[in-house]
Amino acid sequence: MDRYAVIGNPVAHSLSPAIHARFAAQFGERIEYLALLAPLDGFRAAVERFFAEGARGANVTLPFKEQAYELADAPSQRAREAGAANFLSHGERGIVADNTDGAGLVADLRGNLGVRIAGATILMIGAGGAARGVLAPLLEQSPARLVIANRTEERARALAARFASRGKIEACALERIPRLDFDLVVNATSASTLGEPLALADDSMLRPGVVAYDMAYGAAARPFLQRAHARGARACDGLGMLVEQAAESYRLWRGRRPATREVIAELRAGRA
Ligand code: NAP
Repeated sequence: MDRYAVIGNPVAHSLSPAIHARFAAQFGERIEYLALLAPLDGFRAAVERFFAEGARGANVTLPFKEQAYELADAPSQRAREAGAANFLSHGERGIVADNTDGAGLVADLRGNLGVRIAGATILMIGAGGAARGVLAPLLEQSPARLVIANRTEERARALAARFASRGKIEACALERIPRLDFDLVVNATSASTLGEPLALADDSMLRPGVVAYDMAYGAAARPFLQRAHARGARACDGLGMLVEQAAESYRLWRGRRPATREVIAELRAGRA
């Protein structure tokens, strides 16, 4: 049986094993897909061991996406642009890395949620691996302006500089977010996944008419979504993104893209 895993730390919360089991069932395929906890200082060793044992591929979650890109023998254009990878496969070319997060986010926003990105003013909170992965695909949709705000301001600045040629992009510290009429606010921090508060001094940008999207899902997304909802914004979690990036991963590994809508609905209803 072909073997895959999602590798992260923490990783027990991951729905990826359930999602890939649903995808495989759509095609009548039998695969094994595990959740693999790698030590914070042992990601490379964990990946090398997994592939040495014959595994076909892995998804990578926080905090290892930048390391996943660095260890690849053959990174895709999307992974190179992001400098981060959430997808690995193992074959004749060694370890191939790709990044399906951006495609997943754009597919969820546009396809599932009907959000218009072209011409939008976007606030991206966070500048870690997930933010890096989605910036190029978001900018490809021609937003009017994209602001990255991060707790560690230098990381936001570095990201804005990296993508400066791709669109109107700027950076700031979390406590100095400019007062703009944002259309879309994306929480790409791991604060609530880590059980920490997101110190947003001013959350007046979460107003009616704004789409507030947390890349996290389940309990981890709740604090941000509740805050957004209380202020009248349209609050959306990252479950659809998770399923869409998984579908893109499945396609890259196995050549067929699974249908996603039913899987998202099942997960939401707690049936998967
Ligand atoms: P990461 O590389 O570890 O980056 C973490 C980011 O969160 C950094 O910008 C960090 O700021 C910020 N952060 C952490 N704790 C914070 C706090 N207490 N207050 C403010 N900012 C804080 O993680 P990642 O891979 O980018 O993942 C980020 C989130 O996206 C996670 O919740 C992950 O589950 C989610 N995600 C979801 C999907 C999906 O398919 N739905 C895909 C990818 C990621 P500093 O730079 O200051 O440390």
